[in-house]
Amino acid sequence: MQPFHGLLQSEGKIVGNWGLSRTTKPAVYAEPVSYADVQAIVRDREAFPTPVNPVGSLASVTATIVNDGGTMVCLCKLDEVLGLERDATGRQIVRVQAGCRLKKLNMWLQAQGFEVAFQAEIGEATVGSVAVGDTKESSLDGPGYFSAHVVALTYVDDRGELRTLDDVKDGDAFYAFKCSFGLSGIVVECQIEVRPATLCRSDIALAGYPSAEELAASLLAMRDRCDALLAIVFLHQLAAFTDSRFKAGLGATTPEAAQPACEEFRRAKRLAIQHGFDGVAVPQPKGLVYSRADFVNEYWRPTAEERRLDFQYYEHDLSQFRRVISEAYSFTKAFQERTGFAPNGWACYFVTRPENTKKPYGLYSGGPGVSFSFDPFCSNPVNPLWQQFAREYNKLAIGKLGGNASPIQTQWLEPGEVRIPRGLARPRFTTPYYEALLD
Ligand SMILES: Cc1cc2nc3c(=O)[nH]c(=O)nc-3n(C[C@H](O)[C@H](O)[C@H](O)COP(=O)(O)OP(=O)(O)OC[C@H]3O[C@@H](n4cnc5c(N)ncnc54)[C@H](O)[C@@H]3O)c2cc1C
Repeated sequence: MQPFHGLLQSEGKIVGNWGLSRTTKPAVYAEPVSYADVQAIVRDREAFPTPVNPVGSLASVTATIVNDGGTMVCLCKLDEVLGLERDATGRQIVRVQAGCRLKKLNMWLQAQGFEVAFQAEIGEATVGSVAVGDTKESSLDGPGYFSAHVVALTYVDDRGELRTLDDVKDGDAFYAFKCSFGLSGIVVECQIEVRPATLCRSDIALAGYPSAEELAASLLAMRDRCDALLAIVFLHQLAAFTDSRFKAGLGATTPEAAQPACEEFRRAKRLAIQHGFDGVAVPQPKGLVYSRADFVNEYWRPTAEERRLDFQYYEHDLSQFRRVISEAYSFTKAFQERTGFAPNGWACYFVTRPENTKKPYGLYSGGPGVSFSFDPFCSNPVNPLWQQFAREYNKLAIGKLGGNASPIQTQWLEPGEVRIPRGLARPRFTTPYYEALLD
């Protein structure tokens, strides 16, 4: 047995997620400081009881982090950006350790004049989690989910061996691994394709609509007029806050002249997201030119008394847009009438899907096309009415509207609502939460 040098805690530490809606009591909590440490954990079944579940920033909303009696491995100390290089096919890539947060990676790349095309608002998420898990954002000139940009990864398998997979050499095995949520192995390092940094121009607006149908039609028309659209829909009020994004040429930093307006908007948006859009006014600037890396934000860990974001994720094909919005509206109004509760809003992202061979399982696996997410959110993850809403809406969005859900971004899933191929899961890494989702 090799020694383990990292932080080790086996005295019943209770760990919670960002939103304080999930807690777990692993038998062992470990923070490895080397790849050899991760190997030591996987190999030593006595000191590190099964299941072994890797985590990063614990920013996920579901029970994906729950591992009572097992081993929680937090990769937060393996967070170096190792450098830019060309891979064997000539692509420009960045090599980065799995525990690196997206904000840190974005800032590092920005300083070198590069970017990953995926630049979601969340800066806390770690590279390892999003390389094998689900993400979404309205990207400029990119698919809109992080793992699409990962071209190679190094992981520790269930025997404690260090292995590397890449898209050219390993094809199907590599693409399947990227759908594995840590069940096939613990990612320790990734190679991510990057491109010269670009600027974005945004027009921000807030508008009301007479009906759900007109709201949906207007968002579709807005999407056609720009290069990428993000909408925050206040569905029960038939209003939408929109960010119409346009490509604005090469550039790594927000132009100085745009800086004050950008900073004002960024701070307001960050606070709105932190608080689940409860009681925060966001300005509506037009023609804002900026580096999107600046808008990848850090969110403080809230207390149980604070308003804090919680959400549900659903992926639908773009052809279903009008139907999803109008059925979600009827459902929400009926729920509100019955209980007095409606979600604070819904986040709507548009994601371009690749061929099925590159995303064989889970979200975005439907073959070439465009998906949108329509995700209700609230500002109190433990509000019983929000939880009831989410459970009931799962039946509509997944069961009736045929949406896809995510084990790390959709809560209260029942068996059959998400299906992860059993072949992806190794018993050493499979928690009871994931066991229930295996097909
Ligand atoms: C305020 C807020 C805003 C958010 N905004 C967005 C957004 O704009 N877009 C978006 O897509 N998501 C968003 N999210 C969700 C978040 O990005 C994802 O849940 C992300 O996966 C969290 O990363 P993490 O490092 O915290 O993962 P954790 O919650 O720590 O881990 C989640 C799971 O990832 C897997 N995993 C973690 N590390 C590894 C590893 N090294 N190897 C293998 N598997 C691993 C495990 O299955 C683990 O259970 C937001 C969340 C919050 C709280």
